[in-house]
Amino acid sequence: MSQSTAATAGSITTRTCWILGAGASFDCIGPGRTCIPVTRSLINRNALPSDVLSRLEQLLAPTSPDSLDETLGDQLEQTIDWLMGLSTEGDEGLASRASECLRELIASVAYAVRTASIGGHARHGGTVGFSYAAENYFWLASMCAVYQEWSVLTLNWDCLLDRAFEEIQGIRRPPPHLDGWIRCINEYKLGSHEAPTLGGYAKLHGSLDLFFCLNRSCAAYRSPLANLRPKLRRREGGFEMFGLPGDKHGPCNKCGVPLTELLMPPGKNKTPQESSFLEHVHRLALYYLQHSSTWIFVGYSVPSYDIDVAHLLRQAITSMAIERSIFVVAPDAPSIAARLSKILGVQVGATAETFTSFVDNVMRIHGGSRPGWA
Ligand SMILES: [Zn+2]
Repeated sequence: MSQSTAATAGSITTRTCWILGAGASFDCIGPGRTCIPVTRSLINRNALPSDVLSRLEQLLAPTSPDSLDETLGDQLEQTIDWLMGLSTEGDEGLASRASECLRELIASVAYAVRTASIGGHARHGGTVGFSYAAENYFWLASMCAVYQEWSVLTLNWDCLLDRAFEEIQGIRRPPPHLDGWIRCINEYKLGSHEAPTLGGYAKLHGSLDLFFCLNRSCAAYRSPLANLRPKLRRREGGFEMFGLPGDKHGPCNKCGVPLTELLMPPGKNKTPQESSFLEHVHRLALYYLQHSSTWIFVGYSVPSYDIDVAHLLRQAITSMAIERSIFVVAPDAPSIAARLSKILGVQVGATAETFTSFVDNVMRIHGGSRPGWA
C-alpha cells in the first residue's frame, strides 16, 4: 500500500541513508524536466558505430537468444557484464572481439551519460537556493551539509551528485561526503584502511570519473585505478588523472592505450582486481547502511540482476539488529517495495512519487523552496 510523503519524511532522522537508482538521476533536475535517461532507453542500435553493432551481433548469435534491442535496452548492464566474461575466455579470437566490443560499448554509454549530464550542470539562473540545474541533487547535498551523518549510496555512473557536493562545499559548512569518497578511493590505491566516519558517499557500480585499461595485453588490464596517481585530488569535472595535457581521459600509463570509464555493473564476470575494488567500496557502504536508522530508496527499481546490492542490504540487516525504517520513493513504489520487502525479509514502506515531487513535499513539511528559472 502506498503512503504519503509525510510518512516517509516523518522517518527521516539524523541517521538516514539514501540509496539512489537510475530514476534519481533521470529526475534530478526538478519540475518538468528530465536528465539522464533510465537504462532501458540510455542507448540503442543507432548510438553504436556499425562495426561495433555487427561485432555485437556476431557475439550474440551463438550464445544468446536475446535480440540486440533487448541487449542494449533493459539488459544493458547484463550485456556489459557478459562481455566482461567473454573478454577473459581462453579462445583468444573470441576474447579479443569481446574486449573490443566492451570498450566501444562502454565508450558509447559514457558518451550518452555525459551528453545528458550537460543539462544538469548548466546554471539555470536562480537567484536564491540552488544555482545549478540538478536541483534535487543540490537539495540532497545541501541537506547533507546540515545533517552530516546522512549517507548517500548511488548506483549511478554520472557525476551530477559529485558536482553538487563540490558546489555545496563553497556555500555551507562542507559536508564530509565527497572527501570521504576520495579517501576511500585513495585507500584502495594505497592499500591502507582508516575507520570510516559516519556520514558519507559511495558509488557502488563505478563512476565516469574513474578509469581502467581494457587493452588485453596490458599489465594493468582491468585493474581499477591502476593508472591513477597514488594520491588523488579533486578537480573540476572529476579526479585528477595521469594523462597528456588536454587529453580528457588520458592514456594508460602502462601501455599508452586510451583508458576506459570504470563501469562496474552487477554480475559475476569480474577480474580478481575488479572484485577487490568492489569489496573495498562495499565495505564502506555496509558501514553506512549498518549505522543508519532510516533507508530511503529513490528511483531504484530493484532489478533481479542486482545481486550485489541485495547481498549488501541483507548483510547490513542481519549484522546490526537496530530498529530501522525502510522506504521506497518512486512512481511505481508499491510494486518495488513489495519486491524489496521479499528480498530483505522486513517491512518496506512505499511513497508513490517522483523524486521531484518528493523533494517539493519534504520542503513543504520541513521548510525550503526552489528557485525560479530565469
Ligand atoms: Zn594499459
